[in-house]
Amino acid sequence: MVKKKKKYRNPTGQYIIIAAVAVALLAGTFALGWHFGVKSTEYHGNILLVNESHRLDANYVPDELVNLYQQRHSFRMASSEIFLTRPTYEAMEAMFHAAEEADMNGYIVTSGYRSYQRQQEVYAASEPGKAQQPGASEHQTGLAFDVTVETSEGFESTPQYSWLMQHAHEYGFIQRYPANKSDITGISYEPWHYRYVGVEAATRMYKTGQTLEEYMGEK
Ligand SMILES: [Zn+2]
Repeated sequence: MVKKKKKYRNPTGQYIIIAAVAVALLAGTFALGWHFGVKSTEYHGNILLVNESHRLDANYVPDELVNLYQQRHSFRMASSEIFLTRPTYEAMEAMFHAAEEADMNGYIVTSGYRSYQRQQEVYAASEPGKAQQPGASEHQTGLAFDVTVETSEGFESTPQYSWLMQHAHEYGFIQRYPANKSDITGISYEPWHYRYVGVEAATRMYKTGQTLEEYMGEK
């Protein structure tokens, strides 16, 4: 008679693993909320929503900010002091590199991360309704940048703009404030402002035509 080999079992070990996973999940949720200084309900997956009604704390500074000027860059810059989070930079560099390969050149990045204090200054210096209030600007996330080209027509009428509209989602970017969506975003058309949300979310929003507010179930 062939004896069946007994499978090794360790139920106590399983419980320990389950307990450890539960603790890790709780700690992770707490760390995320604490780290970003915002309620975790403002996330959809790992996407951070920032607008007039979802503001960042004055002391919120994103992790891993990199100076774009010090990195390899397939784009021009309006200043040598523009910062973005590393994943945002890496995605944008891949995007503008691909644009270059497609003979789309001349992109000039004009703005990236802006601190709460800097946004206070921008807001104070702007006409009413032209700038977001401190804490309500996506630029404080380090996940958004403004871009243009040398043109007298407006960025939205350039081939570089058309290329971005067709391909930005492939690199995880969305045009954050589209035309005819200002009633939802609260911001009038900004053809120059792009936000990193990751390829999956960007592609879904590209296909459905949703804004970030709609995608996150806010509107
Ligand atoms: Zn912007």
